[in-house]
Amino acid sequence: MSRYAEPMARLIEELKKLPGVGTKSAQRFAFHILRSTDEDAAALAEAVRGLKASLRLCSICNNVTDVDPCAYCTSPTRNQRLVCVVEEPTSIAAVERARGSQGGYQGVYHVLHGTLSPLHGVGPDQLRTGTLIARVERGELDEVILATSPTLEGEATANWLAGALRGYQVRITRIATGVPAGSDIEYADEVTMASAMEGRREV
Ligand SMILES: [Zn+2]
Repeated sequence: MSRYAEPMARLIEELKKLPGVGTKSAQRFAFHILRSTDEDAAALAEAVRGLKASLRLCSICNNVTDVDPCAYCTSPTRNQRLVCVVEEPTSIAAVERARGSQGGYQGVYHVLHGTLSPLHGVGPDQLRTGTLIARVERGELDEVILATSPTLEGEATANWLAGALRGYQVRITRIATGVPAGSDIEYADEVTMASAMEGRREV
């Protein structure tokens, strides 16, 4: 039996499902929400509901978007034949921040939503690679940049994808290890990311 009234216990249970939120934090958030104005509480609830109701994955690149295809995939100023493959939608921000001698990345993206991880039962079938491979097969792309993190899983994923795309008329490159080995590209600063992009090599 919880020592809180049912609505409070329910909110605490839901908050505890968030990454990095333990019982103590969940209780603190719940009591903060209880003390906040009706408007603030309603705005929080509506923001959560609206997120799930209005966001989806782009049918071309799997980026999280409110319009399908996403803004990158429909941009007339971006090179639609140059695709940067990243692990998560949040990795796109790191590449967008990169400002190198070319003035930044001009291509589009493909989001895998994960990496190969045999230990956690994630095989090639669990990654979202279908639309990327189909675009390469149709000859729609000039270059695929493999920008997965330089971690064990990220390297395994890049190697697997390079193998799957080999034999088609497409240039396959891997970002340089300007990004510190073992780290997540999400945390790469703009200079590091720019040199990783510029120093990319054919694989
Ligand atoms: Zn897209």
